[in-house]
Amino acid sequence: MPASAKPREGFGPFLGPLFGPFGGGLSMGWPKLAGGLAVRLARMGRELRAAVTSRRAAGRDADVATRRPAGSVTLVGAGPGDPDLLTVAAVKALAAADVVLYDHLVGDGILDLAPAKAERICVGKRSGRHSLPQEEINTLIAAQALAGRRVVRLKGGDPMVFGRAGEEIDHLDALGIPVRVIPGITAALGCAASTGLSLTRRGVSRAVTFVTAHGRDGERFEPDWARLADPQGTLAIYMGREQARAVGQGLTGAGLCAETPVLAVENGCRPDERHHWTTLGAMAADGVAAGKGPTLLLVGEALRQRRQGSGAAYAVDDLGAGHHRGQRLDHD
Ligand code: SAH
Repeated sequence: MPASAKPREGFGPFLGPLFGPFGGGLSMGWPKLAGGLAVRLARMGRELRAAVTSRRAAGRDADVATRRPAGSVTLVGAGPGDPDLLTVAAVKALAAADVVLYDHLVGDGILDLAPAKAERICVGKRSGRHSLPQEEINTLIAAQALAGRRVVRLKGGDPMVFGRAGEEIDHLDALGIPVRVIPGITAALGCAASTGLSLTRRGVSRAVTFVTAHGRDGERFEPDWARLADPQGTLAIYMGREQARAVGQGLTGAGLCAETPVLAVENGCRPDERHHWTTLGAMAADGVAAGKGPTLLLVGEALRQRRQGSGAAYAVDDLGAGHHRGQRLDHD
């Protein structure tokens, strides 16, 4: 990444010019965000809403539009990690961006597709630091658009799959800010491709379910195991690593065979992709051996054939990344 394209650490550089008095003293490091900036962002949100409402009430929308260029927001799916998996529309939107707000799942190399002069703002978790609360991300996106900028909100995978796109779209709708969505390859489909595992198989799996085993903001959440325990379906479980034992217990408890194959794909479609094979029964006892990278759990009989075709027995093992893009897929 060229030096000029380095992501900014604080919010001061763009808030200053935009918000005058609010911008002062905001060039702070990330750890301080939770305190003073949170309060300021909340105030900014209230002021933005009030400004939009009063303009509408005064019937001056057209006038305002001629005096200040309308900004726009594009929610862009960044795919599972490999820049080659971006859509052409995503590449065009990035190339035209004035500002990119990205989250921690966005793969290396994708941010480089925005112009060097575009502002880059990380709003996601990074190595032990907290992400911005969703309300504050909503406020930031809106503030940038109302300042007349072309805003790209870049999200891992597809924005509409466990991406909180709904909340951001609602917020922009409420402010009358136009928003467009460019789809991305969601983790389940990226991982199916990179592992060479078809999620459906004639006579074996007739349905694919995208599900999360994770509650809202750490809330406890008990999936409907009986509904998910379909022996003729494949489950793609997002955010499931920490809940892997509970998933194994829930699904076997609801009647799925303990021998049902499970593949945990860690860092799918990235150079460090890793595979951790197990079975539902073993996962119920031991969880999965995946590391800290984003990990998708694939569960179902559709996975069995390729695994058996390779001649290996089911076991918890790490298969490494030797089959990554363009390399051989018969990874055993
Ligand atoms: N919008 C994203 C999902 C965000 S939820 C999408 O469509 O893919 C975050 C979860 O997605 C992670 O916890 C993990 O379960 C999954 N995930 C995202 N990227 C992944 C990747 N490269 N490899 C494996 N799983 C991934």
